[in-house]
Amino acid sequence: MKEKFKTVITAGLDLFFPPFCASCRKAAEDSNRPLCGKCFSQLKFMKTPYCTCCGRSFSSGHENHLCGDCLKSSWNFDRARSIVVYEDIIAGLIHELKYSGSMCGLKAFQDLSRHSPVRDDLSTADLILPVPLHIKRLRQRGFNQALLLAKSLFPDAGAKIHYDILFRQTNTPTQTGLSGRERRKNLKNAFIVKKASEISGRNILIIDDVFTTGSTVNECAGVLKKKGCKRVEILTICRAEKILP
Ligand SMILES: [Zn+2]
Ligand SMILES: [Zn+2]
Repeated sequence: MKEKFKTVITAGLDLFFPPFCASCRKAAEDSNRPLCGKCFSQLKFMKTPYCTCCGRSFSSGHENHLCGDCLKSSWNFDRARSIVVYEDIIAGLIHELKYSGSMCGLKAFQDLSRHSPVRDDLSTADLILPVPLHIKRLRQRGFNQALLLAKSLFPDAGAKIHYDILFRQTNTPTQTGLSGRERRKNLKNAFIVKKASEISGRNILIIDDVFTTGSTVNECAGVLKKKGCKRVEILTICRAEKILP
């Protein structure tokens, strides 16, 4: 009866406030889907085959294996996965979330996450940590988009999501336009861990919006590992990269 009532209310709301696509703002076909069919079909989901460690896609083959970079050098994290490839639609939604405070994309990201196979690759996390913002940037923006993403992607995780363990102690300039080496230098000693006893021997999942070179999440994983956590995995909404042949 309750469900029936809900359906009637939703239908009524749709009549007066027609649902619109979170990306193109045109009328959406289905009020339960945040993106219209056209926008959704343009997204490229990260799917096998990809690198077993960093999650980078391969354009051919069937089996997952380590990519050349992961064979040559080792990350501080154990595994990284992204939901979709970084492209215009996702870039627009993330930009709105970060700079205009629009929460419109959050429902879309939650929906994409439900359609993504990469979630099955991740271990069960004891703790979910958003990549932190420096306090100055947090005050300017008013929220940490990675924390909103963590809550949105894991709506039932509740007490597992912590924003009082990993902190950014230096207000690093924007990473945009920097090379991998410059990014690593920029981020050196940028993060600290508080309440180290809470992470000892635990499986940690770090959440961020974009995986570009991986420097940020790698630096976070490094400080967490030094403080004794067992495993660090990464989940980002998207990955900015060329798909390898
Ligand atoms: Zn659309
Ligand atoms: Zn790799």
